[in-house]
Amino acid sequence: MGRAPNVEPDHIHEKEHVVQEGMDISGHWNRMFEQRVIWDYTPELIEKVADTPGGESLAFCYQCAQCIPVCPVNTVGDYGPRRIYRRVQTGQDLFTSADLWQCTTCMNCLRVCPKEVDMIQIMPAVREKAVLDGGVPEELQTVFQNTFDYGNPLGESPKKRAAWTRRAAKAHGVDVPLMKDKKKADILWFVECYPSYHPRGVDASVALAKVLDVLGVDYGILGAEEKCSCDSQRLAGEVGLFEEFAEYTIKLFKRYKAKKVMVTDPHALNAFRKEYPKLGGTFFETIHYTTFLRDRMDELGMTKPLGYKVTFHDPCYLGRHNGEYEAPRDMLRAIPGVELIEMGRCRENSYCCGGGGGGMWLDGFMSDHVTERLSENRVREAVETGADVLAVCCPYEVSRFEDAVKSTGNEGKLVVRDIVELVVESMGVGDE
Ligand code: SF4
Ligand code: SF4
Repeated sequence: MGRAPNVEPDHIHEKEHVVQEGMDISGHWNRMFEQRVIWDYTPELIEKVADTPGGESLAFCYQCAQCIPVCPVNTVGDYGPRRIYRRVQTGQDLFTSADLWQCTTCMNCLRVCPKEVDMIQIMPAVREKAVLDGGVPEELQTVFQNTFDYGNPLGESPKKRAAWTRRAAKAHGVDVPLMKDKKKADILWFVECYPSYHPRGVDASVALAKVLDVLGVDYGILGAEEKCSCDSQRLAGEVGLFEEFAEYTIKLFKRYKAKKVMVTDPHALNAFRKEYPKLGGTFFETIHYTTFLRDRMDELGMTKPLGYKVTFHDPCYLGRHNGEYEAPRDMLRAIPGVELIEMGRCRENSYCCGGGGGGMWLDGFMSDHVTERLSENRVREAVETGADVLAVCCPYEVSRFEDAVKSTGNEGKLVVRDIVELVVESMGVGDE
């Protein structure tokens, strides 16, 4: 018999021949161990995380493993808070480990953890230190630099931030108003980066502009004055950049009067609701566009039945992080000819698309650590429902899922559409 690892032989007591009450328990059957010191634990590395402001709760983990089956990264790799704790406990320095960058801050583990081990605090706290020490994956560093230089992670010209509005004018004859001209409006629409620049994000922005126009909403956008809300950069550890941009946007908001801020992007929603108030930005109620539109669907004249089976992906930062599960579903149910089919993992237990917490920009890095992208995993789940359309309402998702539809060989079976694109299609006023 081999011995257990890390147990010295002279701590083992084992009799060669023992018969007890007629039962032969010779050899390893009667093996006993003395008390021993477990010397391969490294509590100092747990303490290093727990001593970092925000990292405290890692030390609360008592290894119950409830987090493992709900961690999406574990479905495509070897991950989750329990595994991270155990690896740190046995010698891995989280500050320099590849584990540091794999968490998407999706919050599914916190939902089930009895000890409230909070990766949404731990990861940004440890990443902040890693960023300051220069230990950042290269692709993420590029995004930080783009954001710093251009005000958006895509590295696009800040002057062209409102260029998409020309398409709204061309396609629908809609003139998208600027806050700098109006000074005040009922709704300040914070468009964000991907809906301003990414071609598929622009499709949704053009559709939303059409819907706002039909509803006669008094709104304005910030145009070239707008800069990234930076919530994902914060979660990826660039706290300094986040604070600088937050201060800029808070000052910008103070220039204008609005009853509400409406956002396209759940990450901006999260920043404005939960993070900007910590820096003094508490002036506007912020809502997601689905929350704004859900009660006004009957005013849109949606007369064209679509005849689609639709499944919906809950964005982590709209659902679990900000509690909005119903508004997108209310919108979908109101569109004629839409049959809503839920995926197995939905609402509170929805799985992440892989874009949160900086994951949007880490697909190259992640390819060394996972068997497939989370977006691919989620697309397979959507295809299994038999849906023709995967409906989304977060600007990260449309491009991630469209790539995943191609890479999983599901082209022709499933298309990815923002909810507002479906609305406009049903209004019979398609783009171009
Ligand atoms: S659920 Fe919480 S306490 Fe249990 S193993 Fe996971 S992190 Fe640790
Ligand atoms: S926040 Fe999400 S990705 Fe990160 S460890 Fe928890 S379940 Fe996994």
